[in-house]
Amino acid sequence: MRWSQAFIPTLREAPADAESASHILLLRAGYVRQLSAGVYSYLLLGQRALLKIMAIVREEMDRIGQEFYLPALHPAELWQASGRWETMGDNLFRLKDRFQRDLCLGMTHEENMAAIAAGELRSYKQLPQIWYQIQTKFRDEPRPRGGLLRVRQFIMKDSYSFDLDEAGLDASYQKHHDAYRRIFDRCGLSYVTVEAHSGQMGGSRSQEFMVISPAGEDWIANCRGCGYAANLEKAEAAPAKPEEEERDAERESFPTPGQRTIEEVSRFTGLPASRLIKSLLYMAPVKDEQGVVNWEPRLLVVRGDDEVNETKLLGLWPNARPAHPVEIEQYTGAPAGSVGPVDLMDKSVKVYADRTLSGRKNLVAGANREGYHLRGLTPGRDFQPEWVDARQVRAGDGCKHCGQPLEVQPTIEIGHIFKLGRKYSQGLNVRVLDEHGKEAVPIMGSYGIGMERILTAAIEQNHDEQGFWLPPAIAPFQAVVSVVNTGESEMRQAGERIYEELRRLGVDALLDDRNERPGVKFKDADLIGIPWRITVGKKIASGEVELSERGKQVLKAPAETLPVGKAAAELAHRLPAGPPRG
Ligand SMILES: [Zn+2]
Repeated sequence: MRWSQAFIPTLREAPADAESASHILLLRAGYVRQLSAGVYSYLLLGQRALLKIMAIVREEMDRIGQEFYLPALHPAELWQASGRWETMGDNLFRLKDRFQRDLCLGMTHEENMAAIAAGELRSYKQLPQIWYQIQTKFRDEPRPRGGLLRVRQFIMKDSYSFDLDEAGLDASYQKHHDAYRRIFDRCGLSYVTVEAHSGQMGGSRSQEFMVISPAGEDWIANCRGCGYAANLEKAEAAPAKPEEEERDAERESFPTPGQRTIEEVSRFTGLPASRLIKSLLYMAPVKDEQGVVNWEPRLLVVRGDDEVNETKLLGLWPNARPAHPVEIEQYTGAPAGSVGPVDLMDKSVKVYADRTLSGRKNLVAGANREGYHLRGLTPGRDFQPEWVDARQVRAGDGCKHCGQPLEVQPTIEIGHIFKLGRKYSQGLNVRVLDEHGKEAVPIMGSYGIGMERILTAAIEQNHDEQGFWLPPAIAPFQAVVSVVNTGESEMRQAGERIYEELRRLGVDALLDDRNERPGVKFKDADLIGIPWRITVGKKIASGEVELSERGKQVLKAPAETLPVGKAAAELAHRLPAGPPRG
């Protein structure tokens, strides 16, 4: 393609409201333009990069599954069948048709795929199946931001596996795991695979593929010692050792007038927060045999310097909420600042403790009496909790496998794989006959990759003040041929020759044949994400051009000088080979 005929609206200045590097650069490089909050138009360069990403995804997915294309417009009945019409809440874009029938825009397709399976699959002999699509999704994101990081319309590869049993699901899951690694490797990303929480999807196991980036909003804990890595929503760490040896002590109550927070009690007693117990009352909905929901009070205690991880908590007690002040007084006998696990007013309140409190002695907690605390507390002696994992892992905690200190880092999620179980196949009534002629409900897996996320993560990983450089496999063009002065016929002709030669060698090149000042051309070439450049300038007088790799500019690497006749072949040689076959 010739730059003089291409629409690449570059901007010199960063837009005022742009935050992350990828957001600023996608706009400055003319890849995207915003239509409304969280909704973007993809222009020439953005669309070319996304098409290359999709081609890689499609090639790798075709090796393990079959491509479908499902609707974005769904009848409400489909989502009512799985129960998600209610549970998805405001995240789902809902609308009505002219007959006042409820519809929604799909944000994922478990229900749609399961409905196809229910209508078509009859026998175990048709299993396993892996069905995938690359399609536009909609999500009514409450706070869209960060360019393409958190949007309301986006392109996903989503796939779904149907197997007769757990062993089959294991195999389908592993196939996806391997395909995802091939995809992200080919896209040139540096990423980590982490254990993840299954969240609202339900199911038994899930992993996320994450790119470490300051622009990320998902936090992971990882260990340099053994490679353990997990989303913070799921991460566990070996309990940190108490700072000093703790001895058994007599339990006694003491006055703490006006001391409510951990900080206040710590200052008042002169004890570190790690010697205090933080007590939080929650209300958890529990259904009785008649299906009537009762709200049950549950006290959760963690170390004073720890925080409760909300996702872990909701995993333990689905739909639980913090107790209201009136409920706290009613069940414990004290206001929030004086609550503790011993002598609760309502003896039916069950106590749960984070495992980091196990083995600790001589601790301090609220006395369930306003203005009083208890000291000399030993969990297991003074109260018998059920042990749970509810704390948020912190940087420096010991890895649960090897003991090395964990790091906590922000990441961008680029892919996610789930073992779903039978929730959707059951809800949508998928049935096959097994080899004994008995009805069986297939087990499902669900797997996603965000196309824009790959582009965004690649920019976050490869940028500087002047612009960014994409890995050649996903760049809109692999190389730009910059003709410094198109007014000089020798330069212009050499540029044309190299451009034609590159095309013949299968290199996707952009010829900068614009009648612009050299400074403008170089600035644009540095900005728009093209990884290689051949510069045709003054050296053409001695039959030479310059070859440079954009990523090496950060290292101040000088351009290489090559004979004009060899430049195209040399560049083609340096580009990564095409897709692996087989
Ligand atoms: Zn480790």
